[in-house]
Amino acid sequence: MAAETAEEVVEAVRAADDRLLVLGGGSNLVIADKGFDGTVVQVANRGSKIDSLGEGRVALTVEAGEDWDAVVRQTVEAGLGGLECLSGIPGSVGATPVQNVGAYGVEIAQLLISVDLLDRASGDVRTLAAADLALGYRTSMLKNTERAVVLRVRFELADGGQSAPIRYTELARVLGVRQGKQVPAADARAAVLELRRGKGMVLDPDDHDTWSVGSFFTNPVVTDAELAGVLARIASAVGEETPVPRYPAGVGTSKLSAAWLIERAGFAKGYPDDHAPVRLSSKHTLALTNRGHATTDDILALAREVRDGVHARFGVTLEPEPVLVGCVL
Ligand SMILES: Cc1cc2nc3c(=O)[nH]c(=O)nc-3n(C[C@H](O)[C@H](O)[C@H](O)COP(=O)(O)OP(=O)(O)OC[C@H]3O[C@@H](n4cnc5c(N)ncnc54)[C@H](O)[C@@H]3O)c2cc1C
Repeated sequence: MAAETAEEVVEAVRAADDRLLVLGGGSNLVIADKGFDGTVVQVANRGSKIDSLGEGRVALTVEAGEDWDAVVRQTVEAGLGGLECLSGIPGSVGATPVQNVGAYGVEIAQLLISVDLLDRASGDVRTLAAADLALGYRTSMLKNTERAVVLRVRFELADGGQSAPIRYTELARVLGVRQGKQVPAADARAAVLELRRGKGMVLDPDDHDTWSVGSFFTNPVVTDAELAGVLARIASAVGEETPVPRYPAGVGTSKLSAAWLIERAGFAKGYPDDHAPVRLSSKHTLALTNRGHATTDDILALAREVRDGVHARFGVTLEPEPVLVGCVL
């Protein structure tokens, strides 16, 4: 059922048994071909409000069922900065803390004040500060569990129409600014949407390259202790002289590029061929795309082939980014 107010969400979830699937926009779900045997509650409550926090800052409170990109667009149009680099991401507002949605150098954790949620264990509605959600790279304590349902989300944004500092190299280049500079939030949104379209990362009913869950794998994070061994293994496969993209990922860890590893393991854009029901996007190796008639089994088969191919060549295990329902990789 679609629950159109926070009260309806609470009522529907309290009435459900353990076989519950909380649904936002469905853009990050891979559901088994046999379907889901249980109650599906679609979070569809709407509304938002803005409160001044003083000193050029505002608190934006949004109901979980609002469409994420519409909210980003409205904040940019209202001269609020902060969310613009997260433009073009499909789905609902309530799902954004679940996997700490991120793109182009910004993630929800940087802007989130708190969430109101229904705690299913106690049955209570309570407010949890961002710091209590264990937000990490594409994860939080809410991911892969039905223990809580997000009812509304509160973000801290800046007024004055400027973007957050631009951190992502490719975005800074397109905008013609040095990393760390701010630009009009509307310019950042336009540039992000253009970059995302070029990678098939903005849903388009006429473009099969966008029929995906976005990135199917997260970028692998390796500890400093593991890094030398992993790099040696990659060098022995691709040659010492080939630079391996890697980025700092917090204290004692580095992030490798899943897309780079996939391509170097022999899976080019468009793999396997023009006739397969599931293909790597012809615009972005990380997206597994449904060309119109694919089943979940087809998608998982290609995902396993890619994961196993990368592991065989580099010894790195790719982890799925979407939530798998009734199926495993
Ligand atoms: C083309 C494309 C591009 C994408 N690009 C990005 C990207 O750049 N960065 C990124 O991080 N993600 C990206 N994604 C993934 C996806 O859009 C996000 O994860 C989005 O937040 C999912 O929202 P949704 O409402 O569709 O969630 P759903 O797919 O409906 O649900 C995802 C998970 O969240 C849970 N959930 C949903 N709503 C709630 C709620 N209110 N309370 C508790 N749990 C809830 C569900 O139970 C499920 O486990 C992309 C997806 C696509 C298709």
